[in-house]
Amino acid sequence: MFSVKPRVVRVEAFRRQRTLARQVDVAGFGLWTGVDVVYSFRPAEDNSGVRFFRADLPNSPPIPALVENRVQKPRQTSLAVGSAQVDMVEHVLSALRAARVDNCDVVVNAPEAPGMDGSCEPFLRAFLEAGVVEQTAERALVKIDEPGTYYASDGSSNDAKIELLPSVSEETLYEYTLHYDVPCEIPNQTATFNFCRSPECFLKEIAPSRTFLTLKEAEGLRRMGVCQRVTAQNALVFGHEGIVDNELRFENECARHKLLDMVGDFALAPVDWLGEFRAYKTGHQQNAELVAALLDACE
Ligand SMILES: [Zn+2]
Repeated sequence: MFSVKPRVVRVEAFRRQRTLARQVDVAGFGLWTGVDVVYSFRPAEDNSGVRFFRADLPNSPPIPALVENRVQKPRQTSLAVGSAQVDMVEHVLSALRAARVDNCDVVVNAPEAPGMDGSCEPFLRAFLEAGVVEQTAERALVKIDEPGTYYASDGSSNDAKIELLPSVSEETLYEYTLHYDVPCEIPNQTATFNFCRSPECFLKEIAPSRTFLTLKEAEGLRRMGVCQRVTAQNALVFGHEGIVDNELRFENECARHKLLDMVGDFALAPVDWLGEFRAYKTGHQQNAELVAALLDACE
């Protein structure tokens, strides 16, 4: 819920929509399920948005990447229409957004997206290699016009929040602060990125940052029978002696990854965003709630 409600303005025709120049496939396995999967990204018509198709299910309906289709699942972004569901789609959505792909049919043959190395770099690299083309229809823009603050609506004990500010220079700024109240193997840190910089900047500075967890969490997941195929090469694992069998790509890689997640969750609306989004301790749930609240608040 907003503790301070921002003024939010919607501009219908901001720029031309875009799609991929050609089909591109990315294969891997799901980090949770360990199931092999191919994600096939195909050019799509104006105004169709990003839609997932479960080719492994009979008569499966399209699953539009919209906040109203989001279903609650811990530590990930899942979407469902009827009984058709796709899981762990936030990194795919982040890479599509970073490449400025508005319309795309994503044909998949398993429920969970390929986890790759825990980042979105392989997806974004594939999209930029395929190329992105302009279409005829216009894309809308949602702009923060006066500041606001969003808190988690579930009344949970944590003080997670997202501050919203008007853009000072017609640029969109994302900031994420990771903060643990108790001692943790993962250090507190902040990352900032100006989304109006080129997709190549995102590819270099944000896309390579990987998902992360503590060794204790990793052991707990294994005991639950999930993530059996995951190694220290598919996610950053923080133990008492530092990173397990891996090296950081950036000093603040975890905060950069949370920023990557934010961009993916903010892609659950078919609009560009203009403003400053400064998040503190938030996760997928709050990001999605904020997107819905901002769309509702539009003038
Ligand atoms: Zn993530």
